[in-house]
Amino acid sequence: MLGYLNKVIFYLKRQLKLFFKWLHMLFEWLLTPLNKVIFYLKRQLKLLFEWLLILFKWLLTPREIILRQRDRIYNLKLSTKIQGCILSFIIIFFSWMVYSSLFYVQFDELIAIKNKKISALTDNLLLAKEDQKKLGVLEKNYEKTISAFLENTESNLETIEKTIIATGLDANQLVGRSIRDIPSGGPFIPEMDENKNKLVLKFKPKKNQTSSRVNNNIKRLEALQNIMPSLPLVAPLDYYWVSSNYGKRKDPINKRDALHYGIDLVAQTSTIVGTTAPGMVTFAGKRSKYGKVVEIDHGYGIRTRYGHLHSISKKKGEVVGFREEIGKLGSSGRATGPHLHYEILYDYKALNPAKFINAGKNIFKKG
Ligand SMILES: [Zn+2]
Repeated sequence: MLGYLNKVIFYLKRQLKLFFKWLHMLFEWLLTPLNKVIFYLKRQLKLLFEWLLILFKWLLTPREIILRQRDRIYNLKLSTKIQGCILSFIIIFFSWMVYSSLFYVQFDELIAIKNKKISALTDNLLLAKEDQKKLGVLEKNYEKTISAFLENTESNLETIEKTIIATGLDANQLVGRSIRDIPSGGPFIPEMDENKNKLVLKFKPKKNQTSSRVNNNIKRLEALQNIMPSLPLVAPLDYYWVSSNYGKRKDPINKRDALHYGIDLVAQTSTIVGTTAPGMVTFAGKRSKYGKVVEIDHGYGIRTRYGHLHSISKKKGEVVGFREEIGKLGSSGRATGPHLHYEILYDYKALNPAKFINAGKNIFKKG
């Protein structure tokens, strides 16, 4: 029994020994390639470091550089420190290059967006410039229109004012009165005397004050257009001849020097006498020297007087139109024969009616 047990133990021992041997062999077989790789890598690294060491040693060896330039020799000695600096600089520079190129790639998108915005802005700028051009053209057209308008109004003003001046009336004073006569509700114009008004309306604006010039012209033209129909610019008779002018003359009855405040228009008795402008009858009746006389107020301080009438067909307070019959020509009062004594008064001061009639002739020729 014991012998048999010994045999078994011996057998097991041998088997175990074999098993361990086999394990050892397996491990050795497994480890060999890994060892080989590690060994290889170690050797390569060592070689690399050796190589780098040699490189740096070589790079940082103190050296002399001989430069030749135009027959001259420059001898530069570079110490390990200087070479180290140069090397460091080169390394930093290349690192920066790599970094910045990465940075650039990273911000490529942002740059694209920025460019888009810039192009949009440029487009807007171009559009704005085009608009500016269009505005410029409009402005030019506007200026043309305005200057044509100004020319037109000013030539009209000139014509009217020349006519008024020809009658002996004061155009500025009349304009002042017309503006003051605007009924309430119109533009507010502060009370001022006629001289001040004259200054305001005579004032000629500078070129850059176009709008005030336009306003001034319109205002003045409106005022004058209101005044013009009230001016007695025609004769009160259709056919006549002048027997006595306005001014100094010999009195036809006592033959002494005298002032004649109107003109004497001769025509047949009972010729129709018409108003020379619309207005209101302020007197209709007898006055010693004038005989049968009619007086009409035309506004703005302008009045007309028709004397020596044969008969009167209007009453005081009646409103009369232009060329409306007021009576018939006669020789009542202080007259030597049938004629019409015709006066024009401005603020109760007599003006020469012939001047009015002549000024009117010019206007009606043009019209
Ligand atoms: Zn007379």
